[in-house]
Amino acid sequence: MRKLTANYIYPVSSGIIKNGIIIIDFCGKIIDVLDPEIIDYSIDDVEYYDGILVPGFINTHCHLELSWMKSMIKKGLGLNQFIIDLQKLRKDKYPSPDEINVSLKQTEKEIINEGIVAIGDIANSSLALRLKVGSQIKYHTFIEAFGFSPEIAETAFNKAFELFLIHTNIGNLSASIVPHAPYSVSKELFKKIETFSNELNKPFSIHNQESDDENQLYLAKQGQVLERLDLWGIDYNNFNATGLSSFQSIISYLPKSSPVILVHNLYTSAEDIELANFYSERIFWCLCPESNLYIQNKIPDVSLFIDLKSKVTIGTDSLASNENISILKELKTIKKYFPNVEWPVLIEWATLNGAKALGFDNFLGSFEKNKTPGINLIYDDFNKVLKIN
Ligand SMILES: [Zn+2]
Repeated sequence: MRKLTANYIYPVSSGIIKNGIIIIDFCGKIIDVLDPEIIDYSIDDVEYYDGILVPGFINTHCHLELSWMKSMIKKGLGLNQFIIDLQKLRKDKYPSPDEINVSLKQTEKEIINEGIVAIGDIANSSLALRLKVGSQIKYHTFIEAFGFSPEIAETAFNKAFELFLIHTNIGNLSASIVPHAPYSVSKELFKKIETFSNELNKPFSIHNQESDDENQLYLAKQGQVLERLDLWGIDYNNFNATGLSSFQSIISYLPKSSPVILVHNLYTSAEDIELANFYSERIFWCLCPESNLYIQNKIPDVSLFIDLKSKVTIGTDSLASNENISILKELKTIKKYFPNVEWPVLIEWATLNGAKALGFDNFLGSFEKNKTPGINLIYDDFNKVLKIN
């Protein structure tokens, strides 16, 4: 048994406790959370920490398999150029399996040191599968399907399904099949994924409104998405503009009975959020500010999500568009641009909300009896994190 105390503890499921005590067993399971103001106790062997103890962090958007691309793509060139550069790297500079494994292991080490205990990880391959099996990090893998031409919907879905089976049957991992983004998936492919998701009932995710071109595509069939499709020789004759934002155009394909993680939301409007609130209570808005700054030198209007009472989670995206996989760094960036957002709110986004979005809230996300959420010390005036358990 360990007994931990600090200047403050923040269970997240309840308010901050000054000089509170957390009692855990040797597996890290919470036995009790005590408030010295309420309970008169005398406990010895208490470990004391200078700072605030919070539950382990949850990263709801990452692409581990892109770790080898760290620092290879130039910053600030916009999403269109980023995607072109990324595809070029995949084609021309693909590393050996050994090099990929080294990058994956290094990244996971960083993830553990940063106090991250669970990840929603996008996969287009089984590259990170071996790392995930038996890892101390809890993963949910989003197997991503692509395909803008309606003709390849069947092939694209089958490819994703094969990968899904490898992850669930061979790896015994939690996984689901998800669409990449509104601009890279045909109506036909969306429908196939939707049917599968409704049966599976697992967390769902999609990249959402990362650039304004995505909205332009649906509003008026214009913008840089078309240039990219031309560059890659992809036919878009069958695509018709809806006159609505991209999110409003695809919302009907999102499952209502499972959590949905919308990632990026840089060009999301108040109307989009209001529609989402009306559509489902299980929609989570995942913010990845460091990635947005890396690619586009812009971050989402965080105040909009607070004003409209949305559920926010935090993601890091991959090392292709981020220098670190650090949830605390993402929170500090939000705090820098939106100083009015309070720390307890930010920590809730990075812990309990993330756990709910990934379906892990029965054992992660808060200091509640019988959970094994991991324990982080945030110290040095919210500048550093130390994994305690
Ligand atoms: Zn992503």
